[in-house]
Amino acid sequence: MVEAADIVVVGGGPAGAALALALADLGPVPLVIDPRDADIASAQSRPLALSHASRLILDRLGVWTDLDSATPIARIHVSQQGGFGRVALTAAEAGLPALGYVVDYGQLYAALAQALAGRLPQALDVARVNAVRPGRDAARVELVLGGAEHAIAAKLVVVADGGALRDLGRVRKTDYRQEAVVGTVTSELPHGNVAYERFTANGPLALLPFGDRSALVWSCSPERARELSDLPDGGFLAQLHRCFGDRLGAFTSVGARSVHPLALKFVEDVAPPRTVLIGNAAQTLHPVAGQGFNLGLRDAWELAGEIARTSPEDPGSATMLSNYRARRRLDRLGGIGVTDLLVRLFSNDIAALRAARGAGLALLGCVAPARDFVVRRMIFGARG
Ligand SMILES: Cc1cc2nc3c(=O)[nH]c(=O)nc-3n(C[C@H](O)[C@H](O)[C@H](O)COP(=O)(O)OP(=O)(O)OC[C@H]3O[C@@H](n4cnc5c(N)ncnc54)[C@H](O)[C@@H]3O)c2cc1C
Repeated sequence: MVEAADIVVVGGGPAGAALALALADLGPVPLVIDPRDADIASAQSRPLALSHASRLILDRLGVWTDLDSATPIARIHVSQQGGFGRVALTAAEAGLPALGYVVDYGQLYAALAQALAGRLPQALDVARVNAVRPGRDAARVELVLGGAEHAIAAKLVVVADGGALRDLGRVRKTDYRQEAVVGTVTSELPHGNVAYERFTANGPLALLPFGDRSALVWSCSPERARELSDLPDGGFLAQLHRCFGDRLGAFTSVGARSVHPLALKFVEDVAPPRTVLIGNAAQTLHPVAGQGFNLGLRDAWELAGEIARTSPEDPGSATMLSNYRARRRLDRLGGIGVTDLLVRLFSNDIAALRAARGAGLALLGCVAPARDFVVRRMIFGARG
């Protein structure tokens, strides 16, 4: 039997759950389908840097106050290893309480899942979606529930599965040959709410303020990542000190380390009827500059707004979908383009490029309107 629904959201991760909560306040009640046990997903601990704009959205969704691990970023310090030129971006200069915040992915997942269970208890289904088949009048969602196959015909299917389903358009992929070693460390000197982004020839290294610790996202070649994650704590901390430099003194302890493959993946501008992709399903970015979820959250927020504005009674109408795609185009391409450019431009040891990068950073450090431009785009996206 084929059931019918107005909106089905495939994936209840941060992007899918945020969309469902945004829709809850606007009218159409979505059905959110995810195979993951929220308790297990919530145990997945890794840092996420959220922009000030993302904080405002999470506030509107009623989950911000649940994120008690959120640590404000007062300053972002950008430098390159083995080269001159550095720049500091500050919340004070931008006239904001903080440039952004560092939260825990697991805690964010749990807060969104709890809010969803409280506000839309009928909206959640624990099941794995096997396929989404776009169609003119309805898109068909095929899933397995309790061992049996089911199908739902929906006016709109929002794919927010982090990129698991792969038959909804041509996927462009760039393999940077980088993986990220992620963990938390303590240091001799306090972080002072400064987020560091240090570009090295092997990839960017980010140290983010996270409570009284610093959260590390260290991108490097897969071989080096394996080597680093296998090192005993003392050896790992010494390598980190060598790569990062003296700004935090010596590193004194490290928590559990995990390794994450990194690539750029995005679905080309296709327009399947009654179907839309958001979050990592639409674009999976390199974590340099911490843009991925910030972009995905804006996808969710703007899609909810577009549905409410254009056609709440027929949420998957062609007009709504084309308005939404046009609205998100610049921000999406901006996020993809800037992160890709940063990885390519900075992850090498070419002397001429090192000098050009140094000059660029030094110039940015001297020109306040240029810093303001960068900060606004970082916080609000390409349309900021
Ligand atoms: C090392 C690292 C550091 C990062 N740092 C930052 C940062 O500082 N700032 C930032 O903004 N972003 C960062 N990101 C990116 C950020 O983690 C992602 O953009 C974000 O998690 C995407 O959320 P999502 O909901 O789209 O996907 P996901 O978090 O992947 O959630 C997808 C959901 O879909 C469900 N699902 C999967 N398959 C199916 C199926 N077949 N049927 C139904 N449901 C399914 C899953 O169970 C899951 O719940 C980082 C990423 C990495 C790897």
